[in-house]
This record gives sequence, C-alpha cells and structure tokens, in this order.
Amino acid sequence: MEYKKNDILTVTIEDIGNDGEGIGKVNGYTLFIKDAVIGDTVSCKIMKAKKNYAYARLEKIIKPSAIRTEPLCKYHRQCGGCQIQAMSYEAQLAFKQKKIRNNLVRIGGFEPEFIDGIMEPMVGMETPFYYRNKAQFPVGTDKGGKLITGFYAGRTHDIIANTDCVLGVKENKRILETVIAFMTDNHVSAYDEKTGRGLIRHILIRKGFASGEIMVCLVINYTSNAGNLKEKGGKGEGGGSKAKRKAEINAQTSMENKALKKSGGNGEYFPNQWTLVKVLSEIEGMASVSVSINTERTNVIMGKEVHTIWGKDTISDTIHVRNTSDFALTGKGITFHISPLSFYQVNPVQTEKLYSLALEYAGLTGKETVWDLYCGIGTISLFLAGKAKKVYGVEIVPQAIEDARENAKRNGIANVEFFVGRAEEILPEKYEREGIYADVIVVDPPRKGCDENCLAAMLRMKPERIVYVSCDSATLARDLKVLRDGGYEVMRVRGVDQFGQSVHVETVALLTRKAQ
Ligand code: SAH
Repeated sequence: MEYKKNDILTVTIEDIGNDGEGIGKVNGYTLFIKDAVIGDTVSCKIMKAKKNYAYARLEKIIKPSAIRTEPLCKYHRQCGGCQIQAMSYEAQLAFKQKKIRNNLVRIGGFEPEFIDGIMEPMVGMETPFYYRNKAQFPVGTDKGGKLITGFYAGRTHDIIANTDCVLGVKENKRILETVIAFMTDNHVSAYDEKTGRGLIRHILIRKGFASGEIMVCLVINYTSNAGNLKEKGGKGEGGGSKAKRKAEINAQTSMENKALKKSGGNGEYFPNQWTLVKVLSEIEGMASVSVSINTERTNVIMGKEVHTIWGKDTISDTIHVRNTSDFALTGKGITFHISPLSFYQVNPVQTEKLYSLALEYAGLTGKETVWDLYCGIGTISLFLAGKAKKVYGVEIVPQAIEDARENAKRNGIANVEFFVGRAEEILPEKYEREGIYADVIVVDPPRKGCDENCLAAMLRMKPERIVYVSCDSATLARDLKVLRDGGYEVMRVRGVDQFGQSVHVETVALLTRKAQ
C-alpha cells in the first residue's frame, strides 16, 4: 500500500526514535510522529512521504498511552527543548536506558546479553523540573512590535514568548519580565537577526545552586556608546528631542554612576542602564550584572568580550562528592567560580552524581597518576585529585584552563597540572616525548566523541582503567568498540539523566585492561 502527503491514518505507537518521536506501522509502512508516545493510538497526517516510511503530524490522540502524562509546560510541542515532556518520568528513564543499550549493541557490536548483564540502573532526578542552572533567552519583537523574550520554536529562530520555562530556576521569570519592562519603558530595542539592527540579543541567566548567587548577562549588539544612545534606540524611540534625551541620560548616568561605582559600575551600554541595574540588583541572590558584546551576524550567542557593570565578575558554586549507593551528600565539596563565558555543567545536582560515579569507577587509592582529557574548567580533575597522586587535565579552550588553574588554587589543590591543547596531540606528545604515563585515564569528550588518535594514544599508554563519560551514547559505543578491540574490557555502564524532559542522556562507562 502506498501513502502520500496529507493522507490521514490511524496508528498505534510501538516504539520511540532517538529524537523522542513516536514510531508506528500501518500495513508495514512506518510512520514517525513527533509528540506521539509509545502506547498512544493516534490519528496523524502525512507531511512527507517516502517509499517505506513517512513523517507525520499528530492530529488527535484517540486513545492515550498509559505512560502519557500531563505536560507542565503548555509550549512543550512547539519548543525545541523538551521532546518527551508528555511521557511519564519513569518512562523517560526507561527510554534512555534502552537508547544507551541499543547503541552499545548496534554500534558497539556488543552482545545484548553482555550489555544487559553489566548495565546498572539509570540514575534519575528527584524532581525532573527546575534543574537547569543556566538559560539563554533570545529577545525580539512579536508581530505587533511588542518586545518579547522566550525560546525558539523547534528548528526555527521564531521566538515564542514565555518567561516561565519549567526547566529553569524560578528567578528567571522575574528577571526576564524586569528586563522586558525596562526595555519597553526606556525604548531600548531588541536585536533583529534579519537586519542586524537593534541592541539586546539575548539574556543569559546563571545561578549557583549551592551559593544562591545569580548572574545576568545581556548580550548586546553594541558598537559605541554614543551610537547606541543616539541611533540604536530602536523604532519606538520617539518623544522628546534627542539632545534633551541624551542630557537626561547623562544626568541620570552620572548620578547612578556615583552610587554604583563602589560595586564596580563603569560605562553605559544602553540608555538608562542604571535604572535596570538597580531593579535587577534588588532581586535576592543577584551577584553580577554584565554585558557581552556581540556585533557579529551569527548564531553564536555570546560575544567574546564581557564587561561587568554591577557586582562581581563571577558567581560561585560548589560541587559535592556523593555516596554512590544512595547519592547522599558526603560533605566534601569543591568550589568553582563561573563567568558568563565559562563552560559549566547545567544540572548541578545530577553532575554531582555523575562525577561521583566517575570517581568510584576510577577506583583511586591515592597512588595513581590520572589523566582527565577534555577537562573543561577542571571539574572532574579536581574531583579526582583528592584521591589520586597526580592528575593531568587537557582542554582545548585556553580560558577554561585558566579557570581550571584558578579553581585548583582556590581549593588548595596542588597535585594537578593542566595543559591547553587537543587531547589527541597533547597525550601522545607527553607520553612519547616525556614518558609520562597513566594508571587511569578519564575522558569526557563533546558529542562527537574521542578523536581516533586520542584513542590510539590511550591504548599505547596502557592505563589499568579507562573511565569514559559521554554525552552521546552513539559515539560512546563507537569508541568503546575501538578500546575493546585494543585490549580493554567494558566492566560497568550507567546512564545518568542530566536532562529530564529531553532525549539527551549522559553515560559513564568503566573499562579495565585485560591481562595479557
Ligand atoms: N569535563 C568537563 C567538560 C566536558 S565538555 C566538565 O564536566 O565540565 C567537553 C570539553 O572538551 C569542552 O570543554 C571542550 O572545549 C573540550 N574539547 C573539545 N574538543 C577537544 C579536544 N580535541 N581536545 C581537548 N579538549 C577538547
């Protein structure tokens, strides 16, 4: 039977794809239906038909699945962020467990029975909402010209107004509403991607969960102070002469500047800046207000420059070691300073669980030399340092290594050394030229996984154990296959849910060297 665009079909969902879409079959013809959940019987409309399969749109749920749940966010279908919010959390964890397992079997070539025998249960979240410590909200205007902030609709750059994302911290709403009200009252324009004009591009908000400190960074299309005040004020500027307006701004600025100088205030990046700073500074926990200058016509959110306009340059957060049997806090913690540009894990509670597992898998006794590849700001390295003789961290971003060194100093950790560079270059170089070896290697690469030269160097170094922390189980499976073929045995695998409501999952795996 052939089907074509706009056909309406009734189907029962039997499986779920890697992006969270429901999968069902009608007369052997496969349908991929976004927002349909395993067990649902739905009617759907074919949007794109191929010979053996089609992408279809969910039209109506005829019989809801037992694992369906009422989503907290009314925008969950439009938004690109939460693909599986309509699934119960338990079912989400089961989906993620299966995703890791299937990748290890299909891509890694491991026997299903072997994987089922070693895989440990998913580490879930106690509350799978309000967990993100960082969010970046685009600013724009709606069709009527009203200033809005929210999120991009899936696969587009259309902003849907919503200040109440259920993954973020409660404070986001007040901060976003404060900024939008300020912009509206003061005729500060939103950046328009299509024209490259307008001032405010994004609002970045970060919160240190342990410290309670909050940071707001406005990403602005700022060229020069005078330019922004005179010309970049946006369409809605109107009212009063420009000269009069500038005089008002200057008077206010000099007054506010004096009041705020103590807190680090310097220049002015947009009209009536200090009015906004004042209201933001009154929000409980507010510790830092900054601007990041980004004048490029790019999808990259943050600019390279950041200027603090009020408060501190960084906020702090503490990551604690947890007991891996029940994930209770053990009391030991490492404190990190985070700037608007620092890379830092977004789910701090689950990160503690993930790192604690990585620490346990590393099996350290205090005598080991450990390499932490793809170390970012040294979070895992510093976690391991307490139980190792020496830890070497490698990271490609120089600023992150500066942060890592500072973080080591701040926490009084002396047995760590950090190198800037590609893991696949630094590791072989240090091993072959300087003879540095490793008892344990920990890797935490980006989604594309480890470079093959990095894996080859790891195999030449013959560490006793390798701990692989991964944010993409497909590349994890590919790399584990290489390590297995190189003489390592996969001993333990465990998924940690860092991103509830989304299809993403972190995995930690332990490999040990087979006796030769
Ligand atoms: N372990 C850290 C960071 C993990 S994210 C943490 O848990 O916070 C992956 C890191 O790898 C990023 O910081 C990225 O900048 C870095 N990276 C990407 N490619 C790299 C390469 N070829 N060599 C070294 N580091 C790399």
